[in-house]
Amino acid sequence: MQTAEVVIIGGGIVGSSIAYHLATAGCRDVLVMERESAQGKGSTGKSMGGVRAQFSTPVNIQMSLYSIPFYASFDERLGYPADYRPQGYLFCATCEKHMAYLRANYQKQVAMGLRDVRLVAADDIRCMFPLLRSDDIVGGSFCSTDGFVDPYSAMIGLMTWAAGHGAKLSKNTVVTGIQRDASGITAVETSKGTIATRKAVNCAGAWAAEIARMVDVDLPVEPLRRMLVPTEPFDQFPHTAPMIIDMSNGFHFRPEALGFLLAWNDPEETPGYKTDFDPAFIEKILTRAADRVPIFENLAVNPKRAWAGLYEMTPDHHPILGPVPEVPGLFLANGFSGHGVMHAPATGKILSDLILTGKTDLVDASLLNLARFAEGRMIEETAVL
Ligand SMILES: Cc1cc2nc3c(=O)[nH]c(=O)nc-3n(C[C@H](O)[C@H](O)[C@H](O)COP(=O)(O)OP(=O)(O)OC[C@H]3O[C@@H](n4cnc5c(N)ncnc54)[C@H](O)[C@@H]3O)c2cc1C
Repeated sequence: MQTAEVVIIGGGIVGSSIAYHLATAGCRDVLVMERESAQGKGSTGKSMGGVRAQFSTPVNIQMSLYSIPFYASFDERLGYPADYRPQGYLFCATCEKHMAYLRANYQKQVAMGLRDVRLVAADDIRCMFPLLRSDDIVGGSFCSTDGFVDPYSAMIGLMTWAAGHGAKLSKNTVVTGIQRDASGITAVETSKGTIATRKAVNCAGAWAAEIARMVDVDLPVEPLRRMLVPTEPFDQFPHTAPMIIDMSNGFHFRPEALGFLLAWNDPEETPGYKTDFDPAFIEKILTRAADRVPIFENLAVNPKRAWAGLYEMTPDHHPILGPVPEVPGLFLANGFSGHGVMHAPATGKILSDLILTGKTDLVDASLLNLARFAEGRMIEETAVL
């Protein structure tokens, strides 16, 4: 029977980052199982690639404070491009309540050590982006080290580096079961055979609850469809723009290639494994786009280039990380609630620390464990796009 010190279930950006961090810590007998014929067919390949530290909870800010510098030095460290573009995130508030929220977040972010964030006056936003409709904008916040990465490239870079240092990626391999005895996990069953192991990490993204069910663990991770609309080339709005968020309705956009990538989370969306793109979404999003950026009335969109993917939502919009005490040897890295690309580096480090040493000093890992739901310790993140 094949053996591995650690089996990683799921070869998206999170599994790849854990493989990378284990390898850098000297743990090289790592097997990554991916059911698809190629990496990136889960949520990672569908992501908008936004990375930001502008969160409302200290633990999310801490995860970004590790991850964003990691992306900034990615190419040098791994010899592979993550295409980090620090163009910023600009939150535009249209009411005092939102401005008070941004102020409170700003104070937490600065207290946690974020240096590049600042509150901006409505006039500053008008000056920066005169093409935004700004009659209702009362102010905002901007962080210059927020920005975007290429999620697919980052994932491949992490896995390539890990593979160069001993880890193995097994594609077309579906994990079908997990064996255990009284002392914990003993093996992972796959469509290509059984792998004897004492440690397995659930990195199955939106499908994580199915993996957890294999050992009778109830994991509160739900798939939720998100749709993105890329535009045709458009040069009438600056391509140096940050991710711009209209807080009145959640519409946000960023430059992408010669056009823009438009996003809006439809509040009417319901949980489920829906990955088809709904053509009716185009009109909904273009209405919001033209409302905030009148010149976007001239945008052209090819519906065939638009796509949908799945967020992996938890009840408090924080990931679920770490060991499952009831199943010794099983670790979770799930439920990123829309932040799995930006938090993959921190997750890799936290999981590698917990797997190899049982502790981490990157965050207080107990805040993110599965037990928080049963124990009523949820930590709500409200800055979810
Ligand atoms: C439209 C959209 C926009 C987004 N925008 C952003 C953004 O701007 N910034 C950000 O940080 N995040 C964003 N996200 C979220 C982000 O993409 C995810 O949180 C992240 O990709 C999760 O990575 P993962 O590796 O956990 O999951 P995935 O990439 O889904 O990988 C999980 C893998 O597990 C495999 N798998 C599942 N079951 C099995 C099994 N039984 N056996 C073997 N393999 C299995 C799957 O095939 C898959 O490849 C966005 C997501 C979507 C859909």
